[in-house]
Amino acid sequence: MSRKKAIGAKLSKPTVDGIIPPAGEPSPAAGRGIAAYAISTSDLNPSWMLLYGGTLALQLVCALLRGIFAYAFLWLAFTIAGQSTVHVNALASVVAYGPLVLSFATLILPLGGWWWQQQSGGRPPSERERFAFEDAITTLTQHHPGLRPPRRWFITDALEPNAAVYADTLMVTRGLLESGYLEAVLAHELGHLNSSDGRLAAALHRMTTPPRWEIQSELRFIALLLNGGLAVWLTRAPWAVYWRAREYHADRYAANLGQAQSLAMFLENNALENDIPVPFMWLTATTHPSTEHRIDRLLQHAQ
Ligand SMILES: [Zn+2]
Repeated sequence: MSRKKAIGAKLSKPTVDGIIPPAGEPSPAAGRGIAAYAISTSDLNPSWMLLYGGTLALQLVCALLRGIFAYAFLWLAFTIAGQSTVHVNALASVVAYGPLVLSFATLILPLGGWWWQQQSGGRPPSERERFAFEDAITTLTQHHPGLRPPRRWFITDALEPNAAVYADTLMVTRGLLESGYLEAVLAHELGHLNSSDGRLAAALHRMTTPPRWEIQSELRFIALLLNGGLAVWLTRAPWAVYWRAREYHADRYAANLGQAQSLAMFLENNALENDIPVPFMWLTATTHPSTEHRIDRLLQHAQ
C-alpha cells in the first residue's frame, strides 16, 4: 500500500461510514483524571534522580545569584517609585526559587502544555483527525490495556511526520497523521508518556527562566547564570547519555505494543537520511542515538 493510500484509509474513514469504532477496554488511567499522571514508585529511577539532584544543586547557585540581582533591581525600582520596600525580600525569593519549586511540582504532577501549543502554533484536532488518533490509541490499547494516553494533545500543521512529548501533552504533526505510521510513532511517544520522560523534560525546562533564547553578547554568561541555563549547559552531556538510553526504552515500549516493524520502517523512510556524523557524541547534547542502531534493535524485537 502506498503512503498516499494509507492517508485516505485513515482520514476519510469517518466520512465514508460515519461510524466510530467501539472503544476497547477502558484504560485504568481513564476515570482517574489528573491523579493518573501523578508520580508513582515505578517512575522512580536512580539514574534520573541523581542527574536531577545534581542539576538542582547547581541551580541553587544560579537561584541565589538571581535572588540577589532581583532584590537589588526591585529595591531600586520600588525606591525610585516612592513605594515601600517591605515586600521586596519576599518578591526576590519568589523570582529566585519559584522556578525550582515549579520544577519539583512538575516532577510530582506534570501538568501543562497549553503554552507549548501556543509557541508551536498548534491547534485542536479536527473531527477526522481526532477519529484517526482515537483509532490508533484503541489499536495500541489492545496490546496493553494499562496504557496511559496523553492528557491533552494538539496538531501542528507541518508536513514533516513528527511527534513530541512535554509534561502530560503530546504534539502530533499533520504530516504524521497522514503518513501511515501514526500507530508506530504514537507507540514510541507513549513510551515517553508512560514513564518519567515527559515529566522530567518539563521539570528540567521549568528550572530555567526566560530569556531562554541564545544571547549573543558579552552579557551571555551573566544571562545564563541568572536564568539557570548554566546549570543545564554544565550537565548537558550526562543528560544526553540518559536521553539516548530513553529513546531505546521508548522504542522497546513501541515494540511491546506490536509496532517494532512499522517503527523501523518509519525511521528508515523518515529519519535515517537526517543522521550526520557527531564527533565525540558522548560530550555533546545529542539526545537521540543513531537511527541505524535504533532500527537494528527494533528489527531484533520484531523477530
Ligand atoms: Zn523519543
